[in-house]
Amino acid sequence: MGTNAKPKERVYNFNPGPAALPLPVLERVRDELLSFEGTGLSILETSHRSPEYKRVHEGAMAALRRLLRVPDGYEVLFLGGGATLQFAMVALNLLEPGRPGDYLLTGRWSQKALQEAQKALGLLGEGHRVRAIWSSEVTDYDRVPRPDEVRVSPDASYLHYTSNNTIAGTQFHYVPEVPEGVLLVCDASSDIASRPLDLGRFDLIYAGAQKNLGPAGVTVIIASPQALERSRRRARPSLLSYAAVAEKASLLNTPPVFAVYVVKLVAEHYLAEGGLEALAERNEQKARLLYGAIDGSGGFYRGCARPESRSRMNVTFRLPSEGLEAKFVEEAEREGLVGLKGHRSVGGIRASLYNAVPLEAVEALVAFMREFQRRHG
Ligand code: PMP
Repeated sequence: MGTNAKPKERVYNFNPGPAALPLPVLERVRDELLSFEGTGLSILETSHRSPEYKRVHEGAMAALRRLLRVPDGYEVLFLGGGATLQFAMVALNLLEPGRPGDYLLTGRWSQKALQEAQKALGLLGEGHRVRAIWSSEVTDYDRVPRPDEVRVSPDASYLHYTSNNTIAGTQFHYVPEVPEGVLLVCDASSDIASRPLDLGRFDLIYAGAQKNLGPAGVTVIIASPQALERSRRRARPSLLSYAAVAEKASLLNTPPVFAVYVVKLVAEHYLAEGGLEALAERNEQKARLLYGAIDGSGGFYRGCARPESRSRMNVTFRLPSEGLEAKFVEEAEREGLVGLKGHRSVGGIRASLYNAVPLEAVEALVAFMREFQRRHG
């Protein structure tokens, strides 16, 4: 069955994460669930030290390396704890005394990243600190900085930013510049693998898999030789050390085996479909269609993000009243369009258009929006 053919019992899924998965991957998981590769065991019941799982683990890393074009010398790591654990691990591994960790505050998740790093300072020695160097909080995180607004001091340990702001619906459409010796760190949880990216410019990218790459349970981390070297210089409990995890190829302890297995299938599926270029083209097409419907509604639907910062992954918009927004979500759900309620902290509507959301889902949403406006506008 092709990606776009939706079986009757399925709905169009606009959830922000955990989110839509490619249908052929779900079908394969179902088909292999009781007996993985003829072993008579489910992958869920298989030892993480078995040859079968070893192939899955290494296969997932290899597929991600190819899909994301991970440069030689960089390591791909699998860890539990979600992106949230990375908020602390970044500081624990990459902060140097006397050199601040600099943060761009472009939404709730980057704010959390800074707060968790602040808490991690208690585990580090004197002289470690983190700070915000730019924020759009006063305008409700309606935009990301322009390139010329990102001014990182050469004294900084690293610059941390969130490439896609899942709640506000904004996204960086460029890679920030950092001075020589300052590491570039990115939380790409909600836009990893959605478009080509020159990973050679980054020192650490992390992403919870549950939006663009697979199920919840595994965080994908890509670390540069410099990031690993910095991590290696200091002793940390093993699971909190990038260098220690890399040394054991992410098999330091039992990894989230099922999540890694699904990530492998998802990455292989996207490679077979044309890789990041094909995904980027389709993601852009979906976003253009939905923003076009918002902008063409005569003000009935109003986008939350400033146009130059609009996200292609999470499209956020408002209706004339909260009452109409509630009705919108409810009626959409009855039409088989689910997951459209905005984040509880901001309200409004949010349509998440991750990799596995087909164009036809967005076409169905846009048709519903026109009809809703006709009845309620
Ligand atoms: N960063 C971003 C950009 C996110 O969207 C999320 C989850 N929505 C997180 C971090 C937190 O991820 P997790 O729940 O995997 O810790």
